[in-house]
Amino acid sequence: ASAWSQVQQGPPDAILGITEAFKKDSNPKKINLGVGAYRDDKGKPYVLPSVKEAEQKVVKANLDKEYAGITGVPEFAKAAALLAYGPDSAALQEGRIAITQSISGTGALRIGGAFLQRHYPGAKTIYIPTPSWANHKAVFSDSGLEIKQYRYYNKDTIGLDFDGMVADIKAMPKGSIILLHACAHNPTGVDPTEEQWRAISDAAKQGDHFPFFDMAYQGFASGDTNKDAFALRYFIEQGHYPCLAQSFAKNMGLYGERVGAFSIVTSSPEEKARVDSQIKILVRPLYSNPPVHGARIASTILNDSALNKQWLGEVKGMADRIIKMRALLKENLEKLGSKHNWDHITSQIGMFAYTGLTPEQMTKLAEEHSVYATKDGRISVAGITSENVGRLAEAIYKVKG
Ligand code: PMP
Repeated sequence: ASAWSQVQQGPPDAILGITEAFKKDSNPKKINLGVGAYRDDKGKPYVLPSVKEAEQKVVKANLDKEYAGITGVPEFAKAAALLAYGPDSAALQEGRIAITQSISGTGALRIGGAFLQRHYPGAKTIYIPTPSWANHKAVFSDSGLEIKQYRYYNKDTIGLDFDGMVADIKAMPKGSIILLHACAHNPTGVDPTEEQWRAISDAAKQGDHFPFFDMAYQGFASGDTNKDAFALRYFIEQGHYPCLAQSFAKNMGLYGERVGAFSIVTSSPEEKARVDSQIKILVRPLYSNPPVHGARIASTILNDSALNKQWLGEVKGMADRIIKMRALLKENLEKLGSKHNWDHITSQIGMFAYTGLTPEQMTKLAEEHSVYATKDGRISVAGITSENVGRLAEAIYKVKG
């Protein structure tokens, strides 16, 4: 017999379960709003033209397949840091940012969790928002950190519980680690305003807390990569020394290529060198070194001024389509005579909208209208199209009124 007779059956992944149910449904008008991947207005996966072009360039360059160093493709990491921190970043200009390529955003979070677990001088507890991306808990607890939560979403306003969030940050023990979604909060789509970010930065500063930014959607939220990096850059200006997980899954559509970066802002080049050495020590036994193909594509886009410009236009195109679908969904609900206020659909930002629908209503949406999404009421706006938005609004109207 094998060694595994004691292994317990685990629960299925919540999102993959939705895809299964969607696949089984024979309704030709079925709609899948579960997955967090961009779709074009025909509902099809989208490979960015800039990515196709960069990939051709990479192929034509006829490079070898030797290992990258432990921290990945250097030109990629350098350009990723520039994208996140901006050309005016003093930390970047002064050579104080340690950065490594990572296995997309998830891998960046995992390296960050492990680094903090090993080297953070304070309590090894990370505070994440309620709610947060479903994988945060697992990533950080597998890294050896304890997880606690702070208030974030207010279900009565379907918006930010700003007072609760600030109060919780102020009540944390001095020097706590706080995970912040840099933009396009997943799953709620609710982001602080710039003014609220300022107050959050102040509260974190007062408590001497350590900010850990998860930036999985730079450019994808507003359509402007600089605007979406506001919180990160503002915190640094205010004297914070955060760390950062970046993903190129969404903004370059490189999902399966697993392109990301993890970086830490330090106080001197000498400190950066020490931090770099410890990141390498940590990555080496995890996966030795990252895959090169996707990083070469991203690097080509970021380092070629024409391609970079084209890419920024394409990111804006994706963000704009999502913003338009939000407006259309709200408009359609209002046209149907819904008595509810749907302003949150358009005030939220990014890939996801938190509809405020209950789990029972979400079950009805699936069973009676073939509209599939998570039970928390989150829908992926990227799955809405000009063609299905009317039917979606009707379905929501029928289950909620
Ligand atoms: N953080 C957040 C908040 C996310 O939504 C995602 C993607 N769903 C990630 C990180 C990481 O995704 P990936 O590993 O595909 O880059």
